[in-house]
Order: sequence, then structure tokens, then C-alpha cells
Amino acid sequence: MLASSARWALWSEPLRVRVLVLTAELLAVVFVAAGWLVNMGRDGAGIVAGDVVLGAWLLVLGTVHIEAATGIERVRRRVAATAYFDLSSVWTFAAALLLPLRISAAVVVVLYAHLWLRVWKPAGVPLYRLVYTAATVVLAAQAAHAVVAPVRDGGAGEGLPALGWVALAAVAYLLVNNVLVAAAMALGGGRPSARELVGGVDDHVLELATLCLGVMVALALTADRWTAALALAPLLVLQRAVQVRQLEEAATTDQKTGLLNVAAWRAEANHQLGRVRRTNGSAAVLIADLDHFKAVNDTHGHLVGDAVLAAVAAELRAEVRQDDLVARFGGEEFVVLLPDLPGTGAGRREVLAVADRVRRRVERLGVPVTTSAGPLVVDGLTISIGGATFPADGQDLETVLAAADVALYAAKDAGRNTVRVTAAPLVPQARTAQD
Ligand code: GH3
Ligand code: MG
Ligand code: MG
Repeated sequence: MLASSARWALWSEPLRVRVLVLTAELLAVVFVAAGWLVNMGRDGAGIVAGDVVLGAWLLVLGTVHIEAATGIERVRRRVAATAYFDLSSVWTFAAALLLPLRISAAVVVVLYAHLWLRVWKPAGVPLYRLVYTAATVVLAAQAAHAVVAPVRDGGAGEGLPALGWVALAAVAYLLVNNVLVAAAMALGGGRPSARELVGGVDDHVLELATLCLGVMVALALTADRWTAALALAPLLVLQRAVQVRQLEEAATTDQKTGLLNVAAWRAEANHQLGRVRRTNGSAAVLIADLDHFKAVNDTHGHLVGDAVLAAVAAELRAEVRQDDLVARFGGEEFVVLLPDLPGTGAGRREVLAVADRVRRRVERLGVPVTTSAGPLVVDGLTISIGGATFPADGQDLETVLAAADVALYAAKDAGRNTVRVTAAPLVPQARTAQD
């Protein structure tokens, strides 16, 4: 399958990403070629018929799996927010455990070519990502195959010691795969969060479950081969469960910034406020609006504007506590719920302090972007923030939000790059109070 140069968008990636991608691909090819050459020299053929049969079984099972799960996978591929782990590692890990790299690499290449045609390409994923993913899987398979050598040679004994080696092989497989995927994300221009780079606990549990199924498939293939097909049923159920979780996540997330969307924020904020009310506590709402954001779009274009929005969202998320709820309110506006403030009076001062920390953070922010005219850093950004507290400014979420909105207008009227908590400011102007 030849790709058009437009689809092969690797050349538009930064140089460091190109170097990483090409190095991984080169390494994968070198390992496979070295395996061929060493084995050629040893027995003249390099291929054992039994291995080819096992590889063919894995290919057939993997192909049936991809076809059975095409619908689920296409949806998953579209909504996947974090590193996307596809479940074909059941077959590729089984191949890594059982087969020499030159055969398992063939299994990987054929399965990923099939995946690309049926799932990735229709979802608009560039071909180079698939080639890189396949290379990372080949390298992971090489690592797992090397670790599990004592089990294949019989040197590791049976039972628990053998299982220990298999577990180590799974760790090696996951480590190589995850590190290479995270490296590509970190080197790209997307400014991924730590959560995106490392992946969530759920992602790793899923990876582990998939590799466990891979071990079962490998065992079944060395006993009665037909029983390996039994792995298909739990695999499809697993895939369905993951899809439901991902759809839930997508339904509550703002795609551009990764923050909560307004609907999810309102639901969770109402829930939190109910809890605060029951415990006679206090809470606060901040609404933040970027100043003259239209000028960023007008000067650099909407794509740069989007990158700035994502960067500001990340700063906002990083400045507040883990339990604070941060959402994109719409356009270039953000909203934050700060639950559990100490006492009403102290609460207002604390809200002012939090909002001003956010304001200063945005002021210092420089967002590196790539434009058609080359790389540049967008800075000189400012934000205005309005805040209001519960229960002092309102008895329910909507009233507190309305009060924060009035405060935001007051901050804009006061000249922007300013913080106001409720319409009557506690401090004349946060900017002068803090600087
Ligand atoms: P002010 O200081 O009064 O807030 O000025 P402003 O330019 O930020 O405010 P205005 O409401 O006039 O314009 C908001 C701009 O935000 C206009 C719109 O193009 C831009 N915007 C809204 N949503 C998005 C988005 O998703 N991406 C990009 N790039 N721009 C957006
Ligand atoms: Mg606005
Ligand atoms: Mg604005």
C-alpha cells in the first residue's frame, strides 16, 4: 500500500520526532534482519515450518478479531484522548512469546496493515503513525522474546518460575512500547500532560489484561490450537467495556483543551455544592476570559488560537488544586469551582489570591507554535477573572455564576488583566495590589 505524500505527514513533524520515528523503524528492521542472518548461518534455512504454522494461526485469529471488532475500534480510535493501546497485542504478544522475531515481525506487519486499512485509515490517522506503532510493537516483541528465552529453552523450569519469566517478558513488552509512544508524544508539538504521557491506571490494567490473554493464547496454541479461538469472546467483551468508558470520557471532555465541558462541569459542580451546603462549608466560582483574544486569531490564525487556548487551559489546571473543577465555559472563557474554602471572610481572600496567581501565570506564559511562517512563541497574553463565593454571593450554582460574571465584567471595565471577586472589589485592583 503506497501512501500519497500528503497523507505521509511525517515531514511536517518537528525534526526530533522524525529522528525518533526513523530510528525506531530502522532498529526494528535491523533486529529482524540480524535474526535472519544469524539463523541462516546456523541451519541454512532460517525458517522452521512449525513456526510458520503458528504464525499463520495467530494471523487468522488476529484477522477474525479485527473484523469482528471493526465498529468498536473505529469509535475508540476517534475518541481516544490518551495514548491509544489497541488490543491486537493479544496476538502480537503471543507471537513474541512463541516465535522468533522474523516470524513475529511478519505477524505484526500483516496485522497492522490490516488494522490500518480497516480502522486507522477511515479514522484519518496518518500512515507514518501506524508504521511507527508497528515498529514499536516489533521492538517490544524483540524485548519480550529475549526475556522469555529461558522458558522456551526449558532452563526456567515449570510452574511459578516460568510464570515469573513470562511476567518479566510482559513488563519488557509494555515498557518498550510505552516509552517509545510517550517519547513520540513528548517530542511532538502537542504539549501533552503528564497524564497523557504516562497513561491512566485503567489504560495499564487494560494492557495487562490483554497481555494475560496473549499468554493464554500462546499456551493454547502449543496444546490444542483450536482452543486459542476461545480468547476471541473475552477479548470482544473487554473491548466493548473499554469503548463504554472512553465514550463516557469523551462526553464529559472539551476536545480542544482536555478540560471538562460545561455540561459535565455543571453536573459535578452542583453535586459538590450540595455537599458543601450539607457541611456548612463555603466554595467559590471563578470565570476567566482571555483579553483581546480575537487579536491572537486575527494575527496568527485560528489554529494558533486553538494552541493558545490549550496552553492556557493547562496553566489553569496546573495552578489550582486537584479537587478544583476546571472547565472550558465556551470560546476563550474558563470556569473553576473551588470547593471547601475555609470560612466566608478568609474564603474571599483566598479566592482573590488563587485568581491572581492564575492571572500572573497567564501573563508569564509563552506558547511555542508552528506556523506556515515557521516556529514562533505567542506571549504577551493576559486574562481577566471574576470570582464569587457560596453562600455569601448566592445560594445556588447559577446565582454564584451570575455574580462571578458581573465581577468579570467589572474586571474588564477596570482595564483587563485584572481580578475582581464579586462586583464590589475587596482590593482596588489585584494587579496593583500584587505587583
Ligand atoms: P475581550 O478582552 O473583551 O474579552 O476581547 P476578546 O477579543 O477576547 O473577546 P471577544 O468576545 O470579542 O472575542 C472572543 C474571540 O474568541 C472571538 C473568537 O474568534 C475567539 N474564539 C472563540 N472560540 C474559539 C476557539 O475555539 N478557537 C479560537 N482559535 N478562537 C476562538
Ligand atoms: Mg469572551
Ligand atoms: Mg476575551
